[in-house]
Amino acid sequence: MPNIADNLSVIRSRIINAAKKSGRDPNSIKLVAATKGVPVALIEEAIAAGLTDIGENRVQEAASKFDQLKRYPVTWHMIGHLQTNKVKPALKMFSVIQSVDSERLAKEISAKSERTIDVFMEVNASGEASKFGIAPESSVELATGISRLPNIRLKGLMTLGPDTDDKEKRRKSFRLLHGLFEGIKRLNLPSLELEYLSMGMSDDFEVAIEEGSNMVRIGSAIFGIEHGTVQR
Ligand SMILES: *Cc1c(COP(=O)(O)O)cnc(C)c1O
Repeated sequence: MPNIADNLSVIRSRIINAAKKSGRDPNSIKLVAATKGVPVALIEEAIAAGLTDIGENRVQEAASKFDQLKRYPVTWHMIGHLQTNKVKPALKMFSVIQSVDSERLAKEISAKSERTIDVFMEVNASGEASKFGIAPESSVELATGISRLPNIRLKGLMTLGPDTDDKEKRRKSFRLLHGLFEGIKRLNLPSLELEYLSMGMSDDFEVAIEEGSNMVRIGSAIFGIEHGTVQR
């Protein structure tokens, strides 16, 4: 029977190994647990085992869990596609919105937020039609647009690896995002504090770390959940 604490400790040692392999400080890599479809009881087990960051994909699902989990000192990340009409409830729960992929969404967040909120720009680095995210060639323009808005601070870039088993294709995508990250950093835009490169999931986080990721979002490898069903 899978054990959440054991799974977490396996993931942590794999993160440490991947970091060491590329000469990076393992402590500089943040673990966000992707908890879509994961029951509250399992999330509580993960929190008891030291989990500090939760990533949810849907505002509605997050809201029901948030009520049950808000007594825990964890940081909530919105990692799924966010519709502009859900921005207001999202701002009540999430400290970080990782999925900003249009100026329209950035403007809505800026308008509805009553405090400075950290956002990441989601980039469709693989160019796959099935994926959300701004096109790489438009990312500088969007970053510039975000930097002009009040109440919103661009803190990172996020991407999902391509749907392929080809490790080198994934690597290429992650490398591209890292390049954009460094390029946008150098622009020295106002109110821009690029710090996080959010890439890598259960199947590809080691490659992502080798390519500079300092935030991995991991679901199935922690919770043993595939396609919304609990296997335990
Ligand atoms: C589900 C999800 C993850 C985690 O994926 P796993 O393969 O379960 O580790 C990470 N990021 C996003 C945006 C997700 O939707």
